[in-house]
Amino acid sequence: MAKKDNKFSEYGIATQAVHTGTDYDEGTGAVRRPLHMANSYKLPDDLSTVNYSSTDLLMYSRNGNPNQHWLEEKIAGLYNADDAIVLASGVAALHALFWTLLKSGDRVVYPNVSYMAVYRMFHELFNKKFNVETVIVDMTDLEAVKRAITPGTKLVHIETPDNPTVGVTDIEAIAKIAHENGALLSVDNTFASPLNQQPLELGADFVVDALTKFINGHGDAQGGAIISNDLKTMDRIRYEAQVNVGSVISPFNAWQIFRGSVTFPLRMQRINESAQKIAEWLEQRENITFVSYPGLKSNPGYEIAKKQMKNGYGGVISFGLNADDKTIERMCAKLKVITFAVSLGHDESLIFPQPSYDERINLYPEKFRNGFIRFSVGLEDVDDIISDLNLALLSVNL
Ligand SMILES: *Cc1c(COP(=O)(O)O)cnc(C)c1O
Repeated sequence: MAKKDNKFSEYGIATQAVHTGTDYDEGTGAVRRPLHMANSYKLPDDLSTVNYSSTDLLMYSRNGNPNQHWLEEKIAGLYNADDAIVLASGVAALHALFWTLLKSGDRVVYPNVSYMAVYRMFHELFNKKFNVETVIVDMTDLEAVKRAITPGTKLVHIETPDNPTVGVTDIEAIAKIAHENGALLSVDNTFASPLNQQPLELGADFVVDALTKFINGHGDAQGGAIISNDLKTMDRIRYEAQVNVGSVISPFNAWQIFRGSVTFPLRMQRINESAQKIAEWLEQRENITFVSYPGLKSNPGYEIAKKQMKNGYGGVISFGLNADDKTIERMCAKLKVITFAVSLGHDESLIFPQPSYDERINLYPEKFRNGFIRFSVGLEDVDDIISDLNLALLSVNL
């Protein structure tokens, strides 16, 4: 595909969230573009012109559908990028990127803390099925990163802040090391979101964003995006992973995420403010063993976060309790405002105790191996969130 057309590229992110990718509907003049629930489209009269692998020509919805294309324009706009590909989930986007870039004999370097599916893809699947050399490294240790990126390293993948410890990685420093050694850098930017962090400007080659989370923001649709200025590789991803593997997003989910994304900057700004307050409250509350949030001065990644993030430090906080799994479950069951469920970036606050039997637990920094909770700050009144958490903790004598 060609570089995305964007009439609003000179405008701010809130203006882009409202206007990029939308227009008057050509048929009716409606001020919203429609939802096209069709899986095929009328073919041109002259079939000799048709490329059946094209993702430009509207022909079959796996090759691309209008709602996907409009959402791609918006996501590219939010990231000031030339192109975005929107697929069925965040994991579909991660897989599409890895599947397209890596081949047998290549080496990929990835962090000790990452989204579960990234760990499984590299630790269980790409290495054993496809003979890709997969190397785990602590991305906060730049000397270790330098040692891990040997010749033949094709890709370095990072996540910052990371899921679930909310640790911070220096994007610019890792980009420099990767590029000096001929490797590409991909950054999972889901926790930060484009309001708070722009990895392409910091040297990343590819960004992945799980749209399911903050960009959709309403807990009712799944989708993921790859964002890049490398148009040639983006077309390969469309061909290899979307058309021929089938990870395209449904028009309905794309439409829903498009709708959610309109208010994304406003929601994220509120979430940034509430999360900072909640993290500071947790830090001074008794019986909390640690708080991991990039906006806290006590955080080892604070200086890096301050340098590479803007507007705020995101909506996820990790914290520790001196309690066993059962006590933490009882505490979660007492919550009235905060929802006891996985996922993050919704309108409602979400709490998810990290099971101490997590298969990766020994890869995490020591303090995250016990009584550790991931908390996603929602849009409720911040005082209600704090008081709900406080009462639930008191109910189990914490
Ligand atoms: C949720 C998440 C994903 C995966 O997104 P899905 O839509 O659930 O597939 C990837 N990376 C991070 C950091 C996430 O939090």
